[in-house]
Amino acid sequence: MVLVKEIRFPDVGEVEVGEVADNPRPGLGEALVAPSYVGICGSDLHVYAGRHPFVRPPVVTGHESIGEVLAIGDGVTGIDRGERVLINPLVHCGQCAACAAGALNTCESARVLGFKLPGTARTRTVQDASRLHRVPDAVATDVACLAEPLATAVHAVGRTHGPPALENVLVIGGGCIGLAVLLAARAHGAGRITLVEPVAAKRDLASRLGADRVVEPERLGELAGFTTAFDCVAGADTLRAAVAGTRGGGRVVVVGVPSRTELDLPLPRMQRFEVDLVGSGMYLPADIDSALSLIADGAIDPRPLISRCFPLADASSAYPAAADPDTVKVLVRLSD
Ligand SMILES: [Zn+2]
Ligand SMILES: [Zn+2]
Repeated sequence: MVLVKEIRFPDVGEVEVGEVADNPRPGLGEALVAPSYVGICGSDLHVYAGRHPFVRPPVVTGHESIGEVLAIGDGVTGIDRGERVLINPLVHCGQCAACAAGALNTCESARVLGFKLPGTARTRTVQDASRLHRVPDAVATDVACLAEPLATAVHAVGRTHGPPALENVLVIGGGCIGLAVLLAARAHGAGRITLVEPVAAKRDLASRLGADRVVEPERLGELAGFTTAFDCVAGADTLRAAVAGTRGGGRVVVVGVPSRTELDLPLPRMQRFEVDLVGSGMYLPADIDSALSLIADGAIDPRPLISRCFPLADASSAYPAAADPDTVKVLVRLSD
Protein backbone atom coordinates (compact mmCIF):
# COMPACT_ATOMS: atom_id res chain seq x y z
CA MET A 1 0.00 0.00 0.00
CA VAL A 2 1.13 3.55 -0.75
CA LEU A 3 -0.43 6.88 0.12
CA VAL A 4 -1.47 8.46 -3.17
CA LYS A 5 -1.99 12.22 -3.11
CA GLU A 6 -4.47 13.75 -5.52
CA ILE A 7 -5.93 17.16 -6.36
CA ARG A 8 -9.70 17.20 -6.06
CA PHE A 9 -12.52 19.67 -6.49
CA PRO A 10 -14.78 18.44 -3.64
CA ASP A 11 -17.37 21.11 -4.44
CA VAL A 12 -17.77 24.18 -6.65
CA GLY A 13 -14.98 26.69 -5.94
CA GLU A 14 -13.04 24.31 -3.67
CA VAL A 15 -9.65 22.64 -4.19
CA GLU A 16 -8.10 20.13 -1.81
CA VAL A 17 -5.10 17.83 -1.83
CA GLY A 18 -6.40 14.50 -0.58
CA GLU A 19 -4.69 11.24 0.30
CA VAL A 20 -5.90 7.74 -0.43
CA ALA A 21 -4.28 4.46 0.55
CA ASP A 22 -3.96 2.56 -2.71
CA ASN A 23 -2.08 -0.34 -4.20
CA PRO A 24 -2.00 0.63 -7.87
CA ARG A 25 -0.72 -2.16 -10.11
CA PRO A 26 -0.75 -2.20 -13.90
CA GLY A 27 -2.91 -4.89 -15.48
CA LEU A 28 -2.67 -6.33 -18.98
CA GLY A 29 -1.62 -3.59 -21.41
CA GLU A 30 -1.36 -0.99 -18.66
CA ALA A 31 1.40 1.05 -17.04
CA LEU A 32 1.78 2.56 -13.58
CA VAL A 33 2.82 6.20 -13.96
CA ALA A 34 4.00 8.73 -11.37
CA PRO A 35 2.93 12.11 -12.79
CA SER A 36 5.58 14.82 -12.30
CA TYR A 37 3.58 17.85 -13.41
CA VAL A 38 0.01 18.71 -14.26
CA GLY A 39 -1.00 21.77 -16.25
CA ILE A 40 -4.13 23.74 -15.36
CA CYS A 41 -6.37 24.42 -18.33
CA GLY A 42 -9.37 26.70 -18.87
CA SER A 43 -11.65 23.67 -19.00
CA ASP A 44 -10.42 22.57 -15.53
CA LEU A 45 -11.28 26.04 -14.24
CA HIS A 46 -14.79 25.71 -15.70
CA VAL A 47 -15.32 22.55 -13.62
CA TYR A 48 -13.80 24.23 -10.53
CA ALA A 49 -16.11 27.24 -10.97
CA GLY A 50 -19.20 25.09 -11.62
CA ARG A 51 -19.51 26.45 -15.19
CA HIS A 52 -18.66 23.30 -17.17
CA PRO A 53 -21.60 22.18 -19.35
CA PHE A 54 -21.23 18.43 -18.64
CA VAL A 55 -19.17 17.94 -15.47
CA ARG A 56 -19.67 19.09 -11.89
CA PRO A 57 -17.58 18.50 -8.75
CA PRO A 58 -16.67 16.28 -7.01
CA VAL A 59 -13.87 15.27 -9.41
CA VAL A 60 -10.19 14.37 -9.31
CA THR A 61 -8.83 16.92 -11.77
CA GLY A 62 -5.98 16.87 -14.29
CA HIS A 63 -5.56 16.05 -17.98
CA GLU A 64 -2.26 17.71 -18.98
CA SER A 65 0.28 15.38 -17.42
CA ILE A 66 3.83 14.18 -17.81
CA GLY A 67 5.06 11.36 -15.63
CA GLU A 68 7.58 8.61 -15.14
CA VAL A 69 6.70 4.99 -15.84
CA LEU A 70 7.18 3.01 -12.60
CA ALA A 71 5.98 -0.39 -13.81
CA ILE A 72 4.42 -2.00 -16.86
CA GLY A 73 1.88 -4.80 -17.06
CA ASP A 74 1.95 -7.86 -19.28
CA GLY A 75 1.70 -7.29 -23.01
CA VAL A 76 3.09 -3.75 -22.98
CA THR A 77 5.57 -2.99 -25.75
CA GLY A 78 7.26 0.24 -26.75
CA ILE A 79 7.25 1.80 -23.26
CA ASP A 80 9.66 0.89 -20.49
CA ARG A 81 10.13 1.53 -16.79
CA GLY A 82 11.91 4.80 -16.06
CA GLU A 83 10.76 6.51 -19.27
CA ARG A 84 9.03 9.87 -19.25
CA VAL A 85 5.62 9.87 -20.90
CA LEU A 86 2.80 12.23 -21.76
CA ILE A 87 -0.59 10.77 -20.85
CA ASN A 88 -3.18 11.19 -23.63
CA PRO A 89 -6.32 12.00 -21.60
CA LEU A 90 -8.78 11.18 -24.41
CA VAL A 91 -10.15 7.69 -23.70
CA HIS A 92 -11.90 6.57 -26.89
CA CYS A 93 -14.44 3.72 -26.96
CA GLY A 94 -12.68 1.56 -29.55
CA GLN A 95 -16.03 0.25 -30.85
CA CYS A 96 -17.60 2.97 -33.02
CA ALA A 97 -17.16 3.91 -36.68
CA ALA A 98 -15.00 6.93 -35.79
CA CYS A 99 -12.67 4.75 -33.71
CA ALA A 100 -12.55 2.12 -36.49
CA ALA A 101 -11.57 4.87 -38.94
CA GLY A 102 -8.83 6.13 -36.62
CA ALA A 103 -10.62 9.45 -36.01
CA LEU A 104 -10.35 8.91 -32.26
CA ASN A 105 -11.01 12.54 -31.38
CA THR A 106 -14.47 12.36 -32.96
CA CYS A 107 -15.50 9.25 -30.98
CA GLU A 108 -18.82 10.36 -29.50
CA SER A 109 -18.47 7.95 -26.58
CA ALA A 110 -14.99 9.23 -25.66
CA ARG A 111 -14.37 10.26 -22.06
CA VAL A 112 -11.62 12.59 -20.93
CA LEU A 113 -9.50 12.12 -17.80
CA GLY A 114 -10.23 14.84 -15.26
CA PHE A 115 -13.82 15.26 -16.51
CA LYS A 116 -15.91 12.10 -16.99
CA LEU A 117 -13.06 9.94 -15.63
CA PRO A 118 -10.73 10.58 -12.65
CA GLY A 119 -7.88 12.88 -13.66
CA THR A 120 -4.12 12.59 -13.64
CA ALA A 121 -3.40 15.14 -10.88
CA ARG A 122 -2.33 12.36 -8.53
CA THR A 123 1.01 10.96 -7.51
CA ARG A 124 0.23 7.52 -9.00
CA THR A 125 -2.06 6.60 -11.87
CA VAL A 126 -2.61 3.42 -13.87
CA GLN A 127 -3.21 4.07 -17.57
CA ASP A 128 -3.57 2.06 -20.75
CA ALA A 129 -0.06 2.00 -22.21
CA SER A 130 -1.45 2.69 -25.70
CA ARG A 131 -2.27 6.23 -24.52
CA LEU A 132 1.27 6.98 -23.32
CA HIS A 133 3.61 9.01 -25.53
CA ARG A 134 7.34 8.87 -24.90
CA VAL A 135 8.84 12.32 -24.22
CA PRO A 136 12.05 12.89 -26.25
CA ASP A 137 15.20 13.44 -24.14
CA ALA A 138 15.63 16.98 -25.50
CA VAL A 139 12.33 18.14 -23.95
CA ALA A 140 12.37 19.37 -20.33
CA THR A 141 9.72 17.71 -18.16
CA ASP A 142 7.81 20.88 -17.26
CA VAL A 143 7.81 22.08 -20.89
CA ALA A 144 6.58 18.66 -22.03
CA CYS A 145 3.27 19.36 -20.24
CA LEU A 146 2.63 22.02 -22.88
CA ALA A 147 2.69 19.38 -25.61
CA GLU A 148 -0.94 18.62 -24.66
CA PRO A 149 -2.34 22.09 -25.47
CA LEU A 150 0.17 22.29 -28.34
CA ALA A 151 -1.32 19.08 -29.78
CA THR A 152 -4.70 20.87 -29.87
CA ALA A 153 -3.02 23.66 -31.84
CA VAL A 154 -1.22 21.26 -34.21
CA HIS A 155 -4.54 19.56 -34.89
CA ALA A 156 -6.22 22.92 -35.57
CA VAL A 157 -3.50 23.86 -38.07
CA GLY A 158 -4.13 20.50 -39.74
CA ARG A 159 -7.79 21.48 -40.22
CA THR A 160 -6.81 24.19 -42.75
CA HIS A 161 -6.61 23.76 -46.55
CA GLY A 162 -2.87 23.18 -47.14
CA PRO A 163 0.07 25.63 -47.16
CA PRO A 164 -1.51 28.65 -48.94
CA ALA A 165 -4.11 28.61 -46.17
CA LEU A 166 -1.49 29.96 -43.76
CA GLU A 167 -0.52 32.92 -45.97
CA ASN A 168 -2.46 35.46 -43.89
CA VAL A 169 -3.63 34.11 -40.53
CA LEU A 170 -5.92 35.53 -37.87
CA VAL A 171 -5.77 34.07 -34.34
CA ILE A 172 -8.53 35.23 -32.01
CA GLY A 173 -7.55 34.81 -28.35
CA GLY A 174 -4.11 35.00 -26.74
CA GLY A 175 -4.53 32.47 -23.94
CA CYS A 176 -2.61 29.21 -23.90
CA ILE A 177 -4.44 27.72 -26.90
CA GLY A 178 -4.34 30.91 -28.99
CA LEU A 179 -0.60 31.32 -28.35
CA ALA A 180 -0.05 27.62 -29.07
CA VAL A 181 -1.89 28.07 -32.40
CA LEU A 182 0.38 31.04 -33.14
CA LEU A 183 3.47 28.87 -32.45
CA ALA A 184 2.13 25.91 -34.44
CA ALA A 185 1.11 28.07 -37.42
CA ARG A 186 4.55 29.73 -37.41
CA ALA A 187 6.27 26.33 -37.26
CA HIS A 188 4.15 25.21 -40.23
CA GLY A 189 5.38 28.09 -42.39
CA ALA A 190 2.65 30.68 -41.83
CA GLY A 191 3.07 34.05 -43.53
CA ARG A 192 1.59 37.03 -41.73
CA ILE A 193 -0.08 36.34 -38.36
CA THR A 194 -2.43 38.76 -36.59
CA LEU A 195 -3.50 37.95 -33.02
CA VAL A 196 -6.45 39.52 -31.21
CA GLU A 197 -6.41 39.63 -27.39
CA PRO A 198 -7.80 42.01 -24.74
CA VAL A 199 -5.04 41.57 -22.11
CA ALA A 200 -1.95 43.74 -22.78
CA ALA A 201 0.51 41.28 -21.18
CA LYS A 202 -0.71 38.52 -23.49
CA ARG A 203 -0.51 40.78 -26.55
CA ASP A 204 3.11 41.54 -25.60
CA LEU A 205 3.84 37.84 -25.23
CA ALA A 206 2.24 37.14 -28.64
CA SER A 207 4.53 39.75 -30.22
CA ARG A 208 7.58 38.16 -28.60
CA LEU A 209 6.43 34.73 -29.84
CA GLY A 210 6.28 35.91 -33.44
CA ALA A 211 2.90 37.56 -34.12
CA ASP A 212 3.35 40.22 -36.83
CA ARG A 213 0.50 42.31 -35.49
CA VAL A 214 -1.41 42.24 -32.19
CA VAL A 215 -4.70 44.09 -31.83
CA GLU A 216 -7.37 44.70 -29.21
CA PRO A 217 -10.79 43.07 -29.70
CA GLU A 218 -12.41 46.48 -30.27
CA ARG A 219 -10.69 46.55 -33.68
CA LEU A 220 -11.76 43.04 -34.70
CA GLY A 221 -14.47 44.40 -37.03
CA GLU A 222 -11.86 46.35 -39.06
CA LEU A 223 -9.79 43.27 -39.89
CA ALA A 224 -10.21 41.55 -43.27
CA GLY A 225 -8.50 39.47 -45.95
CA PHE A 226 -7.40 36.44 -43.93
CA THR A 227 -6.86 33.07 -45.59
CA THR A 228 -7.55 31.28 -42.29
CA ALA A 229 -9.01 32.47 -38.99
CA PHE A 230 -8.54 30.39 -35.84
CA ASP A 231 -11.20 31.38 -33.34
CA CYS A 232 -9.90 30.28 -29.95
CA VAL A 233 -12.65 32.21 -28.14
CA ALA A 234 -15.71 31.13 -30.16
CA GLY A 235 -18.01 33.82 -28.82
CA ALA A 236 -20.91 35.15 -30.89
CA ASP A 237 -18.98 38.34 -31.79
CA THR A 238 -15.67 36.65 -32.53
CA LEU A 239 -17.18 34.00 -34.81
CA ARG A 240 -19.12 36.60 -36.78
CA ALA A 241 -15.97 38.74 -37.14
CA ALA A 242 -13.89 35.69 -38.11
CA VAL A 243 -16.29 34.78 -40.93
CA ALA A 244 -16.55 38.41 -42.09
CA GLY A 245 -12.75 38.83 -42.03
CA THR A 246 -11.90 35.64 -43.93
CA ARG A 247 -11.45 36.04 -47.67
CA GLY A 248 -13.40 34.02 -50.24
CA GLY A 249 -12.33 30.37 -50.32
CA GLY A 250 -10.86 30.68 -46.82
CA ARG A 251 -11.63 28.83 -43.67
CA VAL A 252 -12.60 29.61 -40.10
CA VAL A 253 -11.40 26.96 -37.66
CA VAL A 254 -13.36 26.92 -34.39
CA VAL A 255 -10.85 25.93 -31.70
CA GLY A 256 -12.46 27.55 -28.65
CA VAL A 257 -15.44 26.01 -26.88
CA PRO A 258 -18.56 27.95 -27.92
CA SER A 259 -20.64 29.09 -24.98
CA ARG A 260 -23.76 29.63 -27.10
CA THR A 261 -25.57 27.21 -29.34
CA GLU A 262 -27.31 29.77 -31.58
CA LEU A 263 -25.26 32.16 -33.65
CA ASP A 264 -25.99 34.90 -36.12
CA LEU A 265 -23.41 34.24 -38.85
CA PRO A 266 -23.12 35.97 -42.24
CA LEU A 267 -24.43 32.90 -44.10
CA PRO A 268 -24.91 34.68 -47.48
CA ARG A 269 -21.19 35.53 -47.49
CA MET A 270 -20.27 31.98 -46.44
CA GLN A 271 -22.33 30.51 -49.29
CA ARG A 272 -21.47 32.92 -52.09
CA PHE A 273 -17.74 33.15 -51.37
CA GLU A 274 -17.23 29.63 -50.01
CA VAL A 275 -16.00 30.61 -46.57
CA ASP A 276 -15.97 27.36 -44.61
CA LEU A 277 -16.50 27.03 -40.87
CA VAL A 278 -14.96 23.87 -39.40
CA GLY A 279 -14.57 22.53 -35.90
CA SER A 280 -11.33 21.35 -34.33
CA GLY A 281 -11.77 19.17 -31.25
CA MET A 282 -8.78 18.05 -29.17
CA TYR A 283 -6.29 15.95 -31.19
CA LEU A 284 -5.21 12.60 -32.56
CA PRO A 285 -2.35 10.58 -31.03
CA ALA A 286 -0.17 11.65 -34.01
CA ASP A 287 -0.73 15.31 -33.09
CA ILE A 288 0.74 14.66 -29.62
CA ASP A 289 3.83 13.06 -31.18
CA SER A 290 4.12 15.99 -33.62
CA ALA A 291 3.89 18.48 -30.76
CA LEU A 292 6.61 16.66 -28.80
CA SER A 293 8.84 16.48 -31.93
CA LEU A 294 8.36 20.17 -32.73
CA ILE A 295 9.55 21.01 -29.20
CA ALA A 296 12.42 18.48 -29.31
CA ASP A 297 13.63 19.81 -32.69
CA GLY A 298 13.57 23.39 -31.44
CA ALA A 299 10.92 24.39 -34.01
CA ILE A 300 8.71 25.48 -31.11
CA ASP A 301 9.76 26.69 -27.66
CA PRO A 302 6.62 26.84 -25.52
CA ARG A 303 8.46 27.63 -22.25
CA PRO A 304 7.36 31.30 -22.30
CA LEU A 305 3.76 30.06 -21.94
CA ILE A 306 4.51 28.80 -18.40
CA SER A 307 3.52 31.64 -16.08
CA ARG A 308 3.93 29.96 -12.70
CA CYS A 309 4.59 26.56 -11.11
CA PHE A 310 3.22 25.60 -7.68
CA PRO A 311 4.24 22.69 -5.45
CA LEU A 312 1.51 20.14 -4.77
CA ALA A 313 1.10 21.40 -1.19
CA ASP A 314 0.02 24.79 -2.60
CA ALA A 315 -2.41 23.39 -5.18
CA SER A 316 -5.29 25.27 -3.55
CA SER A 317 -3.54 28.54 -4.54
CA ALA A 318 -2.69 27.34 -8.04
CA TYR A 319 -6.28 27.23 -9.37
CA PRO A 320 -7.26 30.77 -8.36
CA ALA A 321 -3.87 31.92 -9.76
CA ALA A 322 -4.61 30.17 -13.06
CA ALA A 323 -7.84 32.16 -13.32
CA ASP A 324 -5.89 35.46 -13.23
CA PRO A 325 -6.23 37.03 -16.72
CA ASP A 326 -2.48 37.81 -16.87
CA THR A 327 -1.42 34.18 -16.51
CA VAL A 328 -1.16 31.82 -19.47
CA LYS A 329 -0.26 28.37 -18.10
CA VAL A 330 0.04 27.40 -14.45
CA LEU A 331 1.64 24.06 -13.56
CA VAL A 332 1.50 22.04 -10.35
CA ARG A 333 4.56 19.93 -9.54
CA LEU A 334 3.42 16.56 -8.23
CA SER A 335 6.83 14.91 -7.68
CA ASP A 336 9.32 15.96 -4.98
ZN1 LIG B 1 -6.32 21.31 -21.50
ZN1 LIG C 1 -15.45 5.35 -30.39
